[in-house]
Amino acid sequence: MNLETHSNSLSVDFLALPQAELHLHLEGSLRPETVCALAAKYGVSASTQDVLKRYAYRDFVEFIESFKWVSSLLRAPEDFALAVRDLGGQLLAQNVVYAEITLSVGVMLLRNQSAEKNFEAIVAAAESFQGRGLQLNFVFDAVRQFGVDAAMKVVEAAEQCGSKSIVAFGIGGDELSIPAKEFRPVYEKAGVIGLRKLMHAGEVGGPEEIRQAIELLGAERIGHGIAAVRDPALMDLLAQRHIPLEICPQSNIRTGALAKQLELPSAQIEQHPLPQLFRHGIPVVLSTDDPAMFHTNLRSEYQNAQRMGLQDAELKRLAKMSFEYAFIDDNAKAALQRCGKATSALK
Ligand SMILES: [Zn+2]
Repeated sequence: MNLETHSNSLSVDFLALPQAELHLHLEGSLRPETVCALAAKYGVSASTQDVLKRYAYRDFVEFIESFKWVSSLLRAPEDFALAVRDLGGQLLAQNVVYAEITLSVGVMLLRNQSAEKNFEAIVAAAESFQGRGLQLNFVFDAVRQFGVDAAMKVVEAAEQCGSKSIVAFGIGGDELSIPAKEFRPVYEKAGVIGLRKLMHAGEVGGPEEIRQAIELLGAERIGHGIAAVRDPALMDLLAQRHIPLEICPQSNIRTGALAKQLELPSAQIEQHPLPQLFRHGIPVVLSTDDPAMFHTNLRSEYQNAQRMGLQDAELKRLAKMSFEYAFIDDNAKAALQRCGKATSALK
C-alpha cells in the first residue's frame, strides 16, 4: 500500500506538537532528486526512476546493497553538507525541532575519506538550521561486519573531531556477523571519551542480540529491537531498566525484518509488535531509520502506529518519549519543547 495515499487521521493537537527523532541515518535520507544530482556530479548515470528501483527491496541484503550504492555517491565534504540541508528541510516540514542523526563513519573511513573534514561540513550545514528551530546532534556509527579494529577507528574519529554535537557511538550493519562481546573494548573507549552507547540489535537477529548489547556493551538505547517480542523476560528487563527501543515500522516492513521475526513470508504494518512492546511499559522512540529509502517520514510512522491501534493519548506519549530519551540535558529538552510549541502556534 502506498502510504502517501493513506488519509491523515492524526488529531489536530497531535500535529501541533513539536517532534524529536532519534534513529535517522543521513545516508538513507537522500531523496531521489538529490541522489540524481550527486550521480550527475560524478558522471554516474541514474534517473529518478533508476533510484526508485534501487529504493525497493525484497530483503535486508538488497537494502544493504542499495544503502552502499547511495553512500558511494557521498564523496566530498560538500556532498555531506548537501545531504544535511536536504534532511533538515524534510525535518522542519514534519515539525521536528530536535534530531540525532546517525553518520556511517565506518563507511567514510572504509573509503579513505577524512571523517573530520566531512564532519566539519556536516556541522556547518546543521548550524544553519539552528536559527530556524531545528537542533541536530550526531551519532558516529560503525559497521559491525567491518570488525572490531574498524569500529575502534570510528570512536577515535569521534575523539579527534572533539565536538559536543557528537553525542553517541553506535554500531549498525549485519548483527549476525561478529559476536557483540568482541566490541567490548570499543564501547569502553566510547564511554571513556563521554559518548553515549547505542546499538542496532534484534532487527533481523534474535532477542539474544539485544540482551548482549545491554549486558555486555552497556547499550542505552536499542536500534529496532523488535525481536524482544519473542522473549518475555527480555521485555521485562527493557521495561524495568527503561531501555528504549528505537522502532522504525516502515523500515521493518520494507527490509523484511518484521516478516523474518514473525517467521512469515510477508508482514503487514498491523502485525507490528510496537503496541505490545509499548503497552508492556518498554519506552519506544518512534523513528524513520532511512526515510527516503523507505518512502516514509515521521508523520507517516505515527499514522502507522495509529493503524496498529494506538490511541491519540498513546501517540502523544510516544512523541514525548523521543524528547525524554534524547541524549541532551533536561533543560535543553524542556526548552526545545517550549520553542517547538511556540513555532507551531505561529504556523
Ligand atoms: Zn538504523
